[in-house]
Amino acid sequence: MAEVQRDVMEMDVLFVGAGPSSLAGAYHLANLIKKHNDAIDSGSKQGRKIQLENGIGILEKGKNVGDHMLSGAVMDPSGIKELIPDFMEKGFPIESEVTGESVYLLTEKGKFKFPLLPPTLQNHGNYICSLNKVAEWLADQISKEFSDTVNIFPEFPGKEVLYEGDKVIGIRTGDKGVDHNGNLKSNFEAGVDIHAKITILGEGPRGSLTKQLVPKLKLDADRNPQVYGTGVKEIWEIPAGRLKKGMVIHTAGWPLSSDHYGGSWMYMMSDTTWSVGFVSALDYANPTFDPHAAFTKFKTHPYIAKLLDGGKMIGYGAKTVSEGGYWSMPKLYADGVLLIGESGGFINISRLKGIHLAIKSGMLAAEAAFEALQKQDYSESTLKRFDELFRASWACHELWGSRNWRQNFTGSFYSGMIKAGMQIYLTNGGTKKRTLLHVDYEHMKKKSESGTPITKVKADETITFEKLTDVYYSGTKHEENQPCHLVIQPDDLADICNTRCKEEFGNPCQHFCPAQVYNMIVPEEGKPSQLRIDFSNCVHCKTCDIADPYQVINWVTPEGGGGPIYKNM
Ligand code: SF4
Repeated sequence: MAEVQRDVMEMDVLFVGAGPSSLAGAYHLANLIKKHNDAIDSGSKQGRKIQLENGIGILEKGKNVGDHMLSGAVMDPSGIKELIPDFMEKGFPIESEVTGESVYLLTEKGKFKFPLLPPTLQNHGNYICSLNKVAEWLADQISKEFSDTVNIFPEFPGKEVLYEGDKVIGIRTGDKGVDHNGNLKSNFEAGVDIHAKITILGEGPRGSLTKQLVPKLKLDADRNPQVYGTGVKEIWEIPAGRLKKGMVIHTAGWPLSSDHYGGSWMYMMSDTTWSVGFVSALDYANPTFDPHAAFTKFKTHPYIAKLLDGGKMIGYGAKTVSEGGYWSMPKLYADGVLLIGESGGFINISRLKGIHLAIKSGMLAAEAAFEALQKQDYSESTLKRFDELFRASWACHELWGSRNWRQNFTGSFYSGMIKAGMQIYLTNGGTKKRTLLHVDYEHMKKKSESGTPITKVKADETITFEKLTDVYYSGTKHEENQPCHLVIQPDDLADICNTRCKEEFGNPCQHFCPAQVYNMIVPEEGKPSQLRIDFSNCVHCKTCDIADPYQVINWVTPEGGGGPIYKNM
């Protein structure tokens, strides 16, 4: 594509990704500035007022704030209580308080209830929420209270980090109106260069800008790599009386093999609305493993099938989740930039929770940004304050307590449970030295070494569904005539999919994508099968970017506004 003229927009502070971390961060920063300036005006504080020149911006790739948000979700309210103490009075969207909880170990036909709830899965005092409603609500609070300071820009995907040397000076947003061959269409709009004094990345798991930034600035030096699981979720309407509103159930075991970390969640959002999902770690060995198929099989278990019987699936989604924990957190700051939420690894997988940590990370970044604005210094030495604030906070205390959790589960799930139990009850989280994790895709074995392919359940389209039926219920849409956002690169490796990968791994992308984006099709009778990428089905989960054994799939942001439209997720 020919060079195009781009507008430059200036911001004081730019948040990328309108998830809970960025929304909380922007709200808190605007609030700190307002309180500071009001105190100076009233004479109760000495000093200089902070005059924002261009305001605070939040970019969101989805059509609306919340559209791409998906989580279980049971939320620990400690983050939101700090951010907006009267959150309940202001109508925070809670589906239910947790009213009861159970954990089961599943076998193929049976189940065993854990006699004691592990402390990490105790949810008394927590709330069942829909993350996309939480994001919508936070955006609404910003527009009610700080619309003069904070601007939210939906349909603006961050495409590229902008640097001056190693200093981050902002980001470039994606172009609109480019056809699938890269030609400009009549509705072409060039992406904008947004320059900011501080850029704060809160992109969620495997963010496409975070993925560029971390290796370039070596923010992962001496850290574990981030590792992930893929969560596949449906919302169901089930007949009343099956489970009490507020009931929280987790399972481990079947249908995963004993060396595969993962399990299910089932949260009763109302007397009839059920969030049911399954998360599988991506450090698996068998290239035929399929997170959607594992979820499908799980639903055929007699206990689950009975609960779903007579119900109706009304929503679908999938997303990866960062599981590495404390030792996988990158360095959180550099010149002009901070990393928050899952971009910074703020998630406690031992508790299956991250919303409270995302909110807290946004607040701490806002406090560091506030001090930088006061000093008018946005260098690494000032932004380091974010790390200091984090280390002095309950968020660090919590993440430190589960620092070795995921490492326990890189072999047998059962020995992992014993090790995790000992860490919880006897050794205060285990060793204080970093214990290693390896990047997910390195665990995948070639066809010749991985044993028999994993059998899949044929969908009955009543309790179990084909991927494409599920995708329909995710509301996913993309402009069809645009460049494919699943880029096989470098170009000279593009044919690896149709040759080497087919031979060695059997094209695992066909299996691990929960939206059937990757299809091996026979173009003509007698011709070898070839990969076809149906990118418009993509639900932006990022599994392919993580699990591809050759690491040639690069998930880049599609045209703004494309992707799932999650409701109640
Ligand atoms: Fe997820 Fe990749 Fe499939 Fe999109 S193409 S749904 S990001 S695995």
